[in-house]
Amino acid sequence: MGIANPAIPLSPEQIAKNLADIAPAMLAEEAYAEASRCLFCYDAPCTRACPTSINVPEFIKRIAARNIVGAATTILDANLMGASCARACPTEVLCEGACVYNHEKAPPIQIGRLQRFATDPVVLSGKMVLSMAPPNGKKVAVVGSGPGGLAAAGELRRLGYAVTVYEAKDQPGGLNTFGIAPYKLTNADALAEAEYVRKMGVEFVLNTRVGKDISIDKVNDDYAAVVIAIGLGATAPLGITGESIDGVVGATEFIEQVRRDPAKVTVGKRVVVVGAGNTAIDAATEAKRLGADQVTILYRRSEKEKPCYEYEYMLAKKDGVVFQWLTAPVQVQAQRGAVSGLKCVKMKLGKPDASGRPAPEPIAGSEFNFACDMVIKSTGQQKLIELYRQVKGLVERGGKVQVNESMQTGNPKWFAVGDCVSGGKEVVNAAADGKRAAYGIHRMLFGDAAVPVRKPGPRLEKPAPHPPMPF
Ligand SMILES: Cc1cc2nc3c(=O)[nH]c(=O)nc-3n(C[C@H](O)[C@H](O)[C@H](O)COP(=O)(O)OP(=O)(O)OC[C@H]3O[C@@H](n4cnc5c(N)ncnc54)[C@H](O)[C@@H]3O)c2cc1C
Ligand code: SF4
Repeated sequence: MGIANPAIPLSPEQIAKNLADIAPAMLAEEAYAEASRCLFCYDAPCTRACPTSINVPEFIKRIAARNIVGAATTILDANLMGASCARACPTEVLCEGACVYNHEKAPPIQIGRLQRFATDPVVLSGKMVLSMAPPNGKKVAVVGSGPGGLAAAGELRRLGYAVTVYEAKDQPGGLNTFGIAPYKLTNADALAEAEYVRKMGVEFVLNTRVGKDISIDKVNDDYAAVVIAIGLGATAPLGITGESIDGVVGATEFIEQVRRDPAKVTVGKRVVVVGAGNTAIDAATEAKRLGADQVTILYRRSEKEKPCYEYEYMLAKKDGVVFQWLTAPVQVQAQRGAVSGLKCVKMKLGKPDASGRPAPEPIAGSEFNFACDMVIKSTGQQKLIELYRQVKGLVERGGKVQVNESMQTGNPKWFAVGDCVSGGKEVVNAAADGKRAAYGIHRMLFGDAAVPVRKPGPRLEKPAPHPPMPF
């Protein structure tokens, strides 16, 4: 990455400090005290808010009873990605956001950190705790080893299938390994979770892109069913002049480099991030934590319409990231082949567009030049439609694979899960999809009666509100 005006490189110790865990592991006494605050609610709203329906009061009760392996079993039985979800989940808007304590203006139970306290000793040490059905003689392929693929693979293994996961990259884990901010989830922890699934008996074939290194027809012929869990592709272009200039990078590509080796990443002194979603926030905070003097997020709508979560916004502001609202890029400017600035235009908000939000419109004559040394594009990821087009009968709409309630595509043998279906959600949604697909495949091959009672929860878009507790 050629940057004309790079930030002063930080020492390895400073990088480690800047990227250290923002929600560190709980000490035992802290966890027991927190678990004892739980009211073990009936029809618990925290469980209803979890896309994987983890029985939260049950696992917290087991922690309170010092039964940590039992607590981990409750979590992993519902969600095999329990360890990464404990770190990456937006708990503020899911389980913790639904905790009854919020109605009392008291802090909600720290469910995410308790979940980490329970799952770490099991997942990171590879201790097998879940029941496994005997082999049923059928083989299933999973394409992609992100949380959606890993959850599907592990659940299929539990149901007795021989499972092979094909992964295009050199390491498993998908965005858990190459996307989530390192101060939430480390590479070692993401890889340990994938290793846990391998230890359950799942085979991994790395460096193998399905549709290129191995044909769709071969996968189709060799397996009883296939799960597509390929996520999304490269960062989408901004569609402005100068995007190929040195110093212009995509957010997901930049973040992958940070996850692979932050010491090898050069950031500019003055960085501009275009977009205000959660990925933009991650790119901005990571650039700041790697030594950039000034990081500015440009967003074409106003603060009110920003797509990132409120707590992510607060985190970026705490890191010193500056937000420039109602501003859109027009052209990347260069000097001697490297970024020297971004020509921008001021925007105003018009009538609502198809998304229901006010449409941003450029203000004529308001162009101005924003001096910077690096531009990080973060206005979405491309869809991997080349693969979808090779699967007979599969239907995609707007780049999202169309599935039924069992995650089955238009081709009955092919299922799809995670971001390639949703267009981009969270780790926990991909994990829930993976489990649902495993059960869907089991139902297709062995009938309804074969599906165990431990069914995944319904696909709720929003948890139902829960009445306040009578304290
Ligand atoms: C920068 C960033 C930060 C995020 N932060 C959070 C967060 O803090 N919390 C949260 O809950 N969610 C977060 N998310 C969202 C979350 O990471 C995704 O929703 C989740 O990883 C989706 O899982 P998946 O299995 O569908 O896809 P992915 O995790 O993207 O995995 C897909 C895998 O498929 C592989 N693949 C692709 N094509 C092929 C092929 N043809 N053959 C074989 N393998 C293939 C890819 O290499 C990849 O490993 C973030 C996303 C991004 C981009
Ligand atoms: S809502 Fe809060 S108090 Fe009630 S069971 Fe869940 S975590 Fe415990």
